[in-house]
Amino acid sequence: MTTDISSVCTYCGVGCDITAVIQDNKITKIYAQNDGVVSRGKLCIKGKYGYDFVDSPNRIRSPRIKKSFIEKNFPYLTTELKARSKTLKELDDIWYESSYEYATSLVAWKLDQIKTTYGGEAFCATGGARTSCESGWLFQRFTRLTMSSPHIDNCARVCHSPSLKGLKTTIGEGAATNPYDDIFKSEFLIVIGSNTTEAHPIVANRMIEAVRDKSIDLVVIDVRDIHLSKYAIYNAVIPYEANLLILNMMAYVILNENLYDSRFILNRCSGFEEYKEVILNDPFANPNFFENISGYEYLVEMIPSIAREYAKRKSMIFWGLGITEHIDGSKAVMALANLALLTGNISKAGAGLMPLRGQNNVQGACDVGCLPYYEPDYKDATKVGLMTPDMMDAMLKGSIKAMYVMGEDIAHIHPNQNKINSALSNLELLVTQELFMNEIANKSDVVFGVKSAYEKTGVYVNAMRRLHLSQPLVLSDLPDDWEVLRDIENKICGEFNYSSSEELWDDVRSEVSRFAGANYMKLSKHRSKGMQWPIDKSDTPILHLDSFKTDDGLGHFQYNRYTLRGQIKEILDGVDDGSFYLTTGRTLVHYNNSAQSKESPRLNDKYPDDIILASIEDEQRLSNKIVLKTPYGQTSPLEVKFVKSIKKGTLYTTFHHAKSKINYIFGDESDEFTKTSKFKSLKVEVEQV
Ligand code: SF4
Repeated sequence: MTTDISSVCTYCGVGCDITAVIQDNKITKIYAQNDGVVSRGKLCIKGKYGYDFVDSPNRIRSPRIKKSFIEKNFPYLTTELKARSKTLKELDDIWYESSYEYATSLVAWKLDQIKTTYGGEAFCATGGARTSCESGWLFQRFTRLTMSSPHIDNCARVCHSPSLKGLKTTIGEGAATNPYDDIFKSEFLIVIGSNTTEAHPIVANRMIEAVRDKSIDLVVIDVRDIHLSKYAIYNAVIPYEANLLILNMMAYVILNENLYDSRFILNRCSGFEEYKEVILNDPFANPNFFENISGYEYLVEMIPSIAREYAKRKSMIFWGLGITEHIDGSKAVMALANLALLTGNISKAGAGLMPLRGQNNVQGACDVGCLPYYEPDYKDATKVGLMTPDMMDAMLKGSIKAMYVMGEDIAHIHPNQNKINSALSNLELLVTQELFMNEIANKSDVVFGVKSAYEKTGVYVNAMRRLHLSQPLVLSDLPDDWEVLRDIENKICGEFNYSSSEELWDDVRSEVSRFAGANYMKLSKHRSKGMQWPIDKSDTPILHLDSFKTDDGLGHFQYNRYTLRGQIKEILDGVDDGSFYLTTGRTLVHYNNSAQSKESPRLNDKYPDDIILASIEDEQRLSNKIVLKTPYGQTSPLEVKFVKSIKKGTLYTTFHHAKSKINYIFGDESDEFTKTSKFKSLKVEVEQV
């Protein structure tokens, strides 16, 4: 006998509603209901076939404790822990397998010892974007209250923290303004720095459908041709690190040609006159600048054309990490918001600003306070903690002694991995909660295997602020993330008295006003549709209808000048030293560090290795296998595929497989406000293999 159970996809921030067919406590099929509000009846390959990981033999079924950790700490253990250590079972040369009871007691003992000896701020934590809001909320509470440390972060640090910063500064709320279906109410769509068909495919479906129906015109702005380019009326292939430059140029054209919405600006915005004055006098804001950028001269005409259509029509902008992962990522997001304010392309259906958030619950992790500068509901932190890159520096200096990681492979997805390895090796305790033994789990002292999203109840917030209540598709005897935190806390303080995720959620709702009206009963009633925050009696599909969420309710223009650098400067200066510019991205079958997709053969078999895409014009100077090098490190040898979609002198690769060591070549260059790494532009040397 089979049962159909509805829930939400575990992979990307699109957050598709799913229905799973269950037989004998196994998922046999996943499909989307035709009336699914997010899926619209379709799932991408990950949602449809990426569930085998649940039954993978590689799941961590019992806690693991490193033998070296026991050896080092044995003389100091309590008499009871010493005696109970006899129950540890040898797993291999490195690990013991432990009872859950012993592992939680051991971690509680060590954390308490670290807090007593060095103070709470010797502890830091990161994670929460792949698990439920309930677990994320308890994670930051564990960090802030149990451990008395302000150092809590999540993987938004390597993706959309600049979107939060840029939107909060200008319009007061760091989230997508409209539902995805507003694509069908829009007339003009700009996709910038997002390979949407690969990273957010079910949103891309809507874009392609709307173009085919001739209801919208699409513009793609990227450093290379992407699949969406062939549907675009303007396909602007731009130089590396040119986002802010181009967005400022669009604003310049709109101002110079009086295409702005004076009424909207007068009623809803502040700072316009200063903004106008400075931009019209900025030599970098005039599109004629591209007359001197060899290979990109066509942008002199194309940028004004895009700007005119954007200003005159009901328009939306979608962006991804191609905007945020730069040294001026937050500034580029402010420039996007400036454009929307300038033209009134916000606060209504079919017009808005749409950051395409990455992980399934990265929006939720930020909403519940897994950030060093915001507590739950974006309240300013009582004490500002360290961002993840700063945590690494503190570990190297020796001021941080313990780290707790919940579902974020910082030993894979973060930049400067040689530095991270040194930092982590300085810790006295590294604890990880994971599904599989990945890079960070292998470096940990204690690892807890936990339930996957398909085995538990919890709330996830997708990239358009939509809350979905997940329910278990199959039963599992593993603990949920929050249960491990509760059980450790209970051995330190004893204040976490939760016996169900619903109890926990009710406390989350009392602290996070945007979730206030979203009790489990209401969310389960709307399980496949979801509800967009803020949720009171009903939900809120469109933000900022009457006012912005800034202190004065107005949209704030925020101009930031572009700084000449990188590839554009080299073209202007005539530099040609034979090196390449690299950008990174994702492929459809994997997500991020391929945590779950790698363990789903139907996905992994399609893309078992990261490869490099290079221009066919560079075929003569590159072999079929190369190593990329920077002063920070080098990659493993990587296969090269020559394609037409890449410009000469540039390279593209994915970073899904840890064995490729892609993130070893990135350094600490990052967004100046949020320290989000500059993953989208890196000058590399190439060694032929
Ligand atoms: S688009 Fe994202 S949420 Fe939807 S099925 Fe694919 S991976 Fe899952």
